[in-house]
Amino acid sequence: MTAEAIGIHTGPRTLPLLSDQAKAQLDPYMALIVGYRKSGLSLNHIIGCPLDCGYCVRHFWGNFDVKVPHLLCTTDEAIEQLVGHHAFQPHVTPIQLFNKATDPFLPGVKPHLFQVLHALDQRGYTNHVLVITRFKVTAADMSELETLRHLRVTLLFTYSGITDPRVEPIAKSDATVTSIRTAAAHKKRTGVVLYWRPIVPGWNDAPDTMATVLDVGRVVDAIVFTGYYHKPENAGYLRELGVDVPYADDYARRKVMPGELDARVVAAWRTSGIGTPLFRKTSCGVAFAHAAPDYNGHWGVRELCDICPAAQRQRCADDYREPVPADVDTVLTQLGYTSDYLIEDGHVWTHGLGEQRRYAIQHTLRHQIWELDQPHYLHAHGRSLLGHTPDASQAAALAGVRAKFENAARYEDD
Ligand code: SF4
Repeated sequence: MTAEAIGIHTGPRTLPLLSDQAKAQLDPYMALIVGYRKSGLSLNHIIGCPLDCGYCVRHFWGNFDVKVPHLLCTTDEAIEQLVGHHAFQPHVTPIQLFNKATDPFLPGVKPHLFQVLHALDQRGYTNHVLVITRFKVTAADMSELETLRHLRVTLLFTYSGITDPRVEPIAKSDATVTSIRTAAAHKKRTGVVLYWRPIVPGWNDAPDTMATVLDVGRVVDAIVFTGYYHKPENAGYLRELGVDVPYADDYARRKVMPGELDARVVAAWRTSGIGTPLFRKTSCGVAFAHAAPDYNGHWGVRELCDICPAAQRQRCADDYREPVPADVDTVLTQLGYTSDYLIEDGHVWTHGLGEQRRYAIQHTLRHQIWELDQPHYLHAHGRSLLGHTPDASQAAALAGVRAKFENAARYEDD
């Protein structure tokens, strides 16, 4: 059954523009039209969604009750903001469209999605573009995507086998699975990824549920799996609906994917015998779909790569180059940033740049860029650990921060 047939509202076909007064009330994160995230520079000038997924991140920014998608500005203005962003680089910067607060394939949002895609493609840009959806993608949509000549577009279909309509109302329909099959059947140059998330104990981690998801994933280019954001706002909403939410009140974690669950997912994938590769990181699955090396430099965190196909590992290995100071200096100058830094095996420490600027450097160098909240260390010891033996307390402190970042590289927000 379609989403409409089971009574899911899909929003208007023509979107209203949010008033200045309403914009002034928005959480700053919701009001941000172009922002940098780990998977790319993200354009979100439409906010609001009728799909009511219980775990939705919009709970965190007071936007979950807004069911009608609204424009924050015109799409022409949004495109100019995107390509005019100081960190945007043609052919280099990965882009995400409408990944924060709406679904890009809702009837009212889709025309804006295609307007942005055509505008970027007409400029000859070859950037990766990530489009995450769980809604209806038709053969006509795929034909239009296939008219693009330059952009490397990847559709990521959020599908995790959840069947409880309190958690995901759209689970009552077959909209997402039908879309995955349609996209896979009509794709030529468009990447198609099954975004297996959120995987949550008790909701969708039973062996037969995992087998169902993996079976759907037979036809796509790649499967990317991850956990969910466990925070009081979405947990409270779901518990009020009577849903069992695991992890109790352990809200400190980011996306939750315990090692034991990771192992069960990998084992289920191996048991399934499907030929579709499985990835832990979004950028890895997207890169693979376009036969490109990972743009987040996860090859520097090699433990992530144990399940990756040999040909893809070779791509990343061939692409991997430890930056020398001149490389880091050039990128910092190009982006207009200043930071002390320290080059280590697999990553570069920086200080005080904040997430958004770190990711801009990371995507330019295709190398992990980490934050060392110990400026003395960077100031005192320059740009390489070579020739320097840290004292015991410094070494212990650095080891602690290094472990934190290795962990973050596995679990941080995509
Ligand atoms: S080799 Fe590692 S970094 Fe490269 S795509 Fe595979 S998992 Fe990602």
